[in-house]
Amino acid sequence: MKILDELYSGKAKSVFKTDDQDRLVLRFRDDTSAFDGEKKASLARKGAVNNKFNAFIMSKLEQAGIATHFEKLLSDNESLVKRLDMIPVECVVRNIAAGSICRRLGVKEGLDLNPPTFEFFLKNDALHDPMINDYHIRAFGWANEQEVAAMKEVTFRVNDVLKKLFRDAGLLLVDYKLEFGRYHGKVVLGDEFTPDGCRLWDAETREKLDKDRFRQNLGGVIEAYEEVARRLGVKLT
Ligand code: C5P
Repeated sequence: MKILDELYSGKAKSVFKTDDQDRLVLRFRDDTSAFDGEKKASLARKGAVNNKFNAFIMSKLEQAGIATHFEKLLSDNESLVKRLDMIPVECVVRNIAAGSICRRLGVKEGLDLNPPTFEFFLKNDALHDPMINDYHIRAFGWANEQEVAAMKEVTFRVNDVLKKLFRDAGLLLVDYKLEFGRYHGKVVLGDEFTPDGCRLWDAETREKLDKDRFRQNLGGVIEAYEEVARRLGVKLT
Protein backbone atom coordinates (compact mmCIF):
# COMPACT_ATOMS: atom_id res chain seq x y z
CA MET A 1 0.00 0.00 0.00
CA LYS A 2 1.26 3.47 -0.95
CA ILE A 3 0.58 6.68 1.01
CA LEU A 4 -0.53 9.42 -1.42
CA ASP A 5 -1.30 13.12 -0.94
CA GLU A 6 -2.86 14.71 2.12
CA LEU A 7 -6.65 14.76 2.06
CA TYR A 8 -7.22 16.84 5.15
CA SER A 9 -5.27 18.36 8.02
CA GLY A 10 -7.08 18.67 11.34
CA LYS A 11 -5.92 20.25 14.59
CA ALA A 12 -4.15 17.13 15.86
CA LYS A 13 -4.21 14.65 12.95
CA SER A 14 -3.51 14.65 9.24
CA VAL A 15 -5.33 12.31 6.89
CA PHE A 16 -3.73 10.86 3.76
CA LYS A 17 -5.17 9.08 0.75
CA THR A 18 -3.71 5.74 -0.24
CA ASP A 19 -3.67 3.76 -3.47
CA ASP A 20 -6.62 1.81 -2.04
CA GLN A 21 -9.77 3.96 -2.51
CA ASP A 22 -11.30 2.45 0.61
CA ARG A 23 -8.37 3.11 2.95
CA LEU A 24 -6.84 6.22 4.53
CA VAL A 25 -3.81 6.80 6.73
CA LEU A 26 -4.22 8.82 9.93
CA ARG A 27 -1.07 10.57 11.10
CA PHE A 28 -1.31 11.60 14.77
CA ARG A 29 0.74 14.78 15.30
CA ASP A 30 2.15 16.27 18.50
CA ASP A 31 -0.04 19.35 18.01
CA THR A 32 -2.82 19.99 20.44
CA SER A 33 -5.48 22.66 20.55
CA ALA A 34 -8.44 23.72 22.67
CA PHE A 35 -11.21 26.32 22.65
CA ASP A 36 -11.91 26.01 18.91
CA GLY A 37 -8.22 26.30 18.07
CA GLU A 38 -7.58 29.45 20.17
CA LYS A 39 -5.10 27.70 22.49
CA LYS A 40 -2.41 25.68 20.75
CA ALA A 41 0.77 23.82 21.65
CA SER A 42 3.04 21.05 20.52
CA LEU A 43 3.53 18.33 23.14
CA ALA A 44 6.38 15.88 22.65
CA ARG A 45 5.31 12.22 22.29
CA LYS A 46 1.59 13.06 22.00
CA GLY A 47 1.19 11.78 18.42
CA ALA A 48 2.68 8.40 19.24
CA VAL A 49 0.87 8.01 22.57
CA ASN A 50 -2.51 8.85 21.04
CA ASN A 51 -1.95 6.64 18.00
CA LYS A 52 -1.24 3.61 20.20
CA PHE A 53 -3.95 4.50 22.71
CA ASN A 54 -6.50 4.79 19.91
CA ALA A 55 -5.42 1.48 18.37
CA PHE A 56 -5.84 -0.23 21.76
CA ILE A 57 -9.32 1.19 22.41
CA MET A 58 -10.58 0.60 18.86
CA SER A 59 -9.40 -3.03 19.05
CA LYS A 60 -11.25 -3.49 22.37
CA LEU A 61 -14.40 -2.06 20.78
CA GLU A 62 -14.05 -4.37 17.75
CA GLN A 63 -13.66 -7.33 20.13
CA ALA A 64 -16.94 -6.25 21.74
CA GLY A 65 -18.65 -6.36 18.31
CA ILE A 66 -18.62 -2.61 17.55
CA ALA A 67 -17.74 -1.74 13.94
CA THR A 68 -14.90 0.81 13.75
CA HIS A 69 -12.79 2.23 10.92
CA PHE A 70 -9.55 1.02 12.54
CA GLU A 71 -7.51 -1.54 10.57
CA LYS A 72 -3.95 -1.59 11.92
CA LEU A 73 -1.01 0.35 13.30
CA LEU A 74 1.46 1.32 10.55
CA SER A 75 4.13 3.14 12.55
CA ASP A 76 4.62 5.03 15.82
CA ASN A 77 2.27 7.79 14.76
CA GLU A 78 0.31 6.36 11.82
CA SER A 79 -2.67 4.02 11.50
CA LEU A 80 -4.51 2.54 8.55
CA VAL A 81 -8.28 3.07 8.62
CA LYS A 82 -11.29 2.53 6.38
CA ARG A 83 -12.30 5.59 4.39
CA LEU A 84 -15.66 6.76 5.76
CA ASP A 85 -18.08 9.36 4.51
CA MET A 86 -18.11 11.33 7.79
CA ILE A 87 -21.33 12.53 9.40
CA PRO A 88 -20.63 16.09 10.66
CA VAL A 89 -21.92 15.61 14.20
CA GLU A 90 -20.29 14.79 17.53
CA CYS A 91 -21.97 12.35 19.92
CA VAL A 92 -21.25 13.00 23.61
CA VAL A 93 -22.17 10.74 26.52
CA ARG A 94 -21.59 11.91 30.08
CA ASN A 95 -21.47 9.73 33.18
CA ILE A 96 -20.33 12.55 35.49
CA ALA A 97 -20.88 16.30 35.02
CA ALA A 98 -17.83 18.23 33.80
CA GLY A 99 -16.97 20.78 31.13
CA SER A 100 -19.67 22.41 29.04
CA ILE A 101 -22.65 20.83 30.81
CA CYS A 102 -21.58 22.57 34.04
CA ARG A 103 -21.41 25.94 32.27
CA ARG A 104 -24.67 25.45 30.36
CA LEU A 105 -26.82 24.05 33.15
CA GLY A 106 -25.10 25.47 36.22
CA VAL A 107 -24.44 22.02 37.73
CA LYS A 108 -21.44 21.24 39.91
CA GLU A 109 -18.51 19.34 38.42
CA GLY A 110 -18.45 15.78 39.74
CA LEU A 111 -22.21 15.19 39.93
CA ASP A 112 -23.11 11.59 38.95
CA LEU A 113 -25.46 11.54 35.98
CA ASN A 114 -28.02 8.76 36.19
CA PRO A 115 -28.94 7.89 33.50
CA PRO A 116 -25.88 9.04 31.56
CA THR A 117 -26.77 11.93 29.24
CA PHE A 118 -26.52 12.00 25.45
CA GLU A 119 -25.90 15.14 23.39
CA PHE A 120 -25.34 15.89 19.71
CA PHE A 121 -23.14 18.80 18.61
CA LEU A 122 -22.62 20.11 15.10
CA LYS A 123 -18.98 19.92 13.98
CA ASN A 124 -18.43 23.54 13.08
CA ASP A 125 -15.63 25.59 14.68
CA ALA A 126 -16.88 28.90 13.22
CA LEU A 127 -20.20 28.34 15.06
CA HIS A 128 -18.38 26.91 18.14
CA ASP A 129 -19.86 23.41 17.69
CA PRO A 130 -23.45 24.28 18.73
CA MET A 131 -25.62 21.70 20.45
CA ILE A 132 -28.24 20.23 18.10
CA ASN A 133 -30.85 17.48 18.32
CA ASP A 134 -32.17 14.61 16.18
CA TYR A 135 -34.58 16.91 14.36
CA HIS A 136 -31.84 19.30 13.22
CA ILE A 137 -29.77 16.36 11.97
CA ARG A 138 -32.66 14.99 9.92
CA ALA A 139 -34.08 18.36 8.76
CA PHE A 140 -30.70 19.56 7.48
CA GLY A 141 -29.89 16.17 5.97
CA TRP A 142 -26.72 15.49 7.97
CA ALA A 143 -28.00 11.95 8.64
CA ASN A 144 -31.24 9.99 8.33
CA GLU A 145 -33.41 8.54 11.08
CA GLN A 146 -31.77 5.10 11.02
CA GLU A 147 -28.30 6.64 11.13
CA VAL A 148 -29.26 8.86 14.07
CA ALA A 149 -30.60 5.81 15.92
CA ALA A 150 -27.43 3.83 15.11
CA MET A 151 -25.13 6.62 16.35
CA LYS A 152 -27.02 6.82 19.68
CA GLU A 153 -27.15 3.08 20.15
CA VAL A 154 -23.47 2.52 19.39
CA THR A 155 -22.37 5.49 21.52
CA PHE A 156 -24.13 3.95 24.54
CA ARG A 157 -22.70 0.49 23.77
CA VAL A 158 -19.24 2.08 23.78
CA ASN A 159 -20.07 3.40 27.26
CA ASP A 160 -20.86 -0.09 28.55
CA VAL A 161 -17.59 -1.48 27.19
CA LEU A 162 -15.27 1.39 28.11
CA LYS A 163 -16.69 2.31 31.53
CA LYS A 164 -15.76 -1.20 32.68
CA LEU A 165 -12.39 -1.24 30.90
CA PHE A 166 -11.37 2.03 32.57
CA ARG A 167 -12.90 1.13 35.97
CA ASP A 168 -10.81 -2.04 36.04
CA ALA A 169 -7.75 0.20 35.54
CA GLY A 170 -8.75 2.48 38.44
CA LEU A 171 -10.19 5.20 36.20
CA LEU A 172 -13.58 6.89 35.86
CA LEU A 173 -14.85 7.52 32.33
CA VAL A 174 -16.43 10.93 32.95
CA ASP A 175 -17.49 11.69 29.35
CA TYR A 176 -16.40 11.24 25.75
CA LYS A 177 -17.06 12.34 22.20
CA LEU A 178 -17.48 10.01 19.23
CA GLU A 179 -17.80 10.64 15.49
CA PHE A 180 -19.30 8.30 12.92
CA GLY A 181 -19.27 7.87 9.17
CA ARG A 182 -20.75 5.67 6.48
CA TYR A 183 -18.84 2.75 5.00
CA HIS A 184 -20.64 1.04 2.14
CA GLY A 185 -23.96 2.13 3.63
CA LYS A 186 -23.22 1.09 7.21
CA VAL A 187 -22.69 3.46 10.17
CA VAL A 188 -19.18 2.88 11.51
CA LEU A 189 -17.24 4.51 14.37
CA GLY A 190 -14.54 6.82 12.99
CA ASP A 191 -12.13 9.50 14.21
CA GLU A 192 -10.28 8.56 17.41
CA PHE A 193 -10.70 7.61 21.04
CA THR A 194 -7.90 9.17 23.07
CA PRO A 195 -7.57 11.34 26.21
CA ASP A 196 -7.95 14.31 23.82
CA GLY A 197 -11.63 13.48 23.33
CA CYS A 198 -12.72 12.08 26.67
CA ARG A 199 -12.41 12.86 30.36
CA LEU A 200 -10.74 10.33 32.64
CA TRP A 201 -10.32 10.76 36.39
CA ASP A 202 -8.40 8.67 38.88
CA ALA A 203 -11.13 6.64 40.61
CA GLU A 204 -9.80 7.36 44.12
CA THR A 205 -8.47 10.91 44.00
CA ARG A 206 -10.50 12.17 40.99
CA GLU A 207 -7.28 13.66 39.60
CA LYS A 208 -7.78 14.70 35.95
CA LEU A 209 -5.79 12.56 33.51
CA ASP A 210 -7.04 13.91 30.16
CA LYS A 211 -7.00 17.01 27.94
CA ASP A 212 -8.44 19.14 30.75
CA ARG A 213 -4.83 19.22 32.01
CA PHE A 214 -4.01 21.22 28.86
CA ARG A 215 -7.23 23.29 28.86
CA GLN A 216 -6.80 24.22 32.53
CA ASN A 217 -2.98 24.64 32.50
CA LEU A 218 -2.51 21.84 35.05
CA GLY A 219 0.78 20.62 33.49
CA GLY A 220 1.92 17.04 33.00
CA VAL A 221 -0.42 16.52 30.04
CA ILE A 222 1.45 13.75 28.24
CA GLU A 223 2.63 12.22 31.50
CA ALA A 224 -1.07 11.82 32.41
CA TYR A 225 -1.89 10.24 29.02
CA GLU A 226 1.06 7.85 29.51
CA GLU A 227 -0.14 6.99 33.02
CA VAL A 228 -3.59 6.10 31.66
CA ALA A 229 -1.97 4.00 28.92
CA ARG A 230 0.25 2.23 31.46
CA ARG A 231 -2.72 1.37 33.69
CA LEU A 232 -4.67 -0.04 30.73
CA GLY A 233 -1.69 -2.06 29.53
CA VAL A 234 -1.26 -0.17 26.23
CA LYS A 235 2.17 -0.94 24.76
CA LEU A 236 3.83 2.41 24.06
CA THR A 237 7.26 1.23 22.89
O1 C5P B 1 -16.69 20.46 26.23
P1 C5P B 1 -17.63 19.36 26.62
O2 C5P B 1 -17.78 19.21 28.10
O3 C5P B 1 -18.96 19.47 25.91
O4 C5P B 1 -16.94 18.02 26.08
C1 C5P B 1 -17.51 16.74 26.33
C2 C5P B 1 -16.50 15.68 25.92
O5 C5P B 1 -16.33 15.70 24.51
C3 C5P B 1 -15.11 15.89 26.51
O6 C5P B 1 -14.55 14.63 26.82
C4 C5P B 1 -14.34 16.58 25.42
O7 C5P B 1 -12.96 16.28 25.47
C5 C5P B 1 -14.98 15.99 24.16
N1 C5P B 1 -15.00 16.92 23.03
C6 C5P B 1 -14.16 16.71 21.94
N2 C5P B 1 -14.16 17.55 20.88
C7 C5P B 1 -14.99 18.61 20.85
C8 C5P B 1 -15.86 18.85 21.94
C9 C5P B 1 -15.83 17.98 23.02
O8 C5P B 1 -13.40 15.73 21.93
N3 C5P B 1 -15.00 19.41 19.79
